[in-house]
Amino acid sequence: MKKPTIVAVLAVVALAGAAILHQQRSSKAKRTVRWPVMGTIAQVTLRGEGGGENAILSTVRATYDRLNGLLSAWDANSELSRLAAAGCTNWVEAVSDEVKPCYAAALKLADESGHAFNPYMGRKLRALGVGSGTYSDFDLGAIAKGYAVDRAAEELGKGTVPVPPLLLDLGGNLRVVGDAVWRTCIRNPFAARKPDLPPYVALIALTNGESVATSGNYERFIEQNGLRLSHILDGRTGQPTSGVAGVTVVVPSDYGAVLADGLSTTLFVLGPQKGAAFLAAHYPKALALWIPDTPEDPHLLATEDMSKRLEEISIKMSRLQTDP
Ligand code: ADP
Ligand code: MG
Repeated sequence: MKKPTIVAVLAVVALAGAAILHQQRSSKAKRTVRWPVMGTIAQVTLRGEGGGENAILSTVRATYDRLNGLLSAWDANSELSRLAAAGCTNWVEAVSDEVKPCYAAALKLADESGHAFNPYMGRKLRALGVGSGTYSDFDLGAIAKGYAVDRAAEELGKGTVPVPPLLLDLGGNLRVVGDAVWRTCIRNPFAARKPDLPPYVALIALTNGESVATSGNYERFIEQNGLRLSHILDGRTGQPTSGVAGVTVVVPSDYGAVLADGLSTTLFVLGPQKGAAFLAAHYPKALALWIPDTPEDPHLLATEDMSKRLEEISIKMSRLQTDP
């Protein structure tokens, strides 16, 4: 009578062992695919061994291409450019259903931020040498990529193909799809100029549905008379912003990558003190960190909730007080 019991126990242990090994193996089996789109690089990282990869990638590609055709300020034939050329003012009513939420989110952010976030910066950007030719005055460049990521995640959710856990990244706008934890690095904005610095300031583990976006002055900028100016303008003055080297925002699934993207631009303009107060008032579930543009004294300022999520922090960190 004893023998079968022992066998059963051993079988359970063996099965549990197999399951753990499988998890470890599958979490290591990652495939990344990259391609250029929307003026940046799209990246999809898939985990596990499931098939259907081609169907997944073509869904994501088709979504980004379609949204680029609707939202691009660089393409004179996009819906946005054609409406802008026709003098559109009632954007949310005029545009295709698929992109109404993107316009609504941008206009809401502009309103809430006292126009620090301002989609009407196209003319100023052109005058400063960003974009050329057909670049529209109305520009959703600060929010369109995040919105495209949300739409791709939604399309994958509708699909008939089983979707393995994956990470969408469109020019630094990331969204987790499926049930897996993704540890992502927050880059050190000063490392490109000072190779002795650690390349990352911290790590953060993202889970299902979460999004993260970063806005920085180190990848895209305007060079004028030898000076580096940010490609993000203060929407209240039309002048290039200064003082912040980078902002990273993490949001839950109900906010979406669209708000992570829009907020990272807004918080870049507002800076740490006003930005943290802005989040507390309007987007309390968003976590944020700022890296001031002080290469001589690299440090980061994090909201309380962000500070609790950061791992392996390699520079000085302070918490931001958001209470009035
Ligand atoms: P990136 O495009 O480098 O990922 P952002 O998401 O922060 O960075 O968006 C920057 C873009 O947003 C600019 O290239 C410009 O098209 C637009 N933009 C610049 N300043 C503002 C602003 N104050 N409000 C809204 N959009 C802006
Ligand atoms: Mg943005």
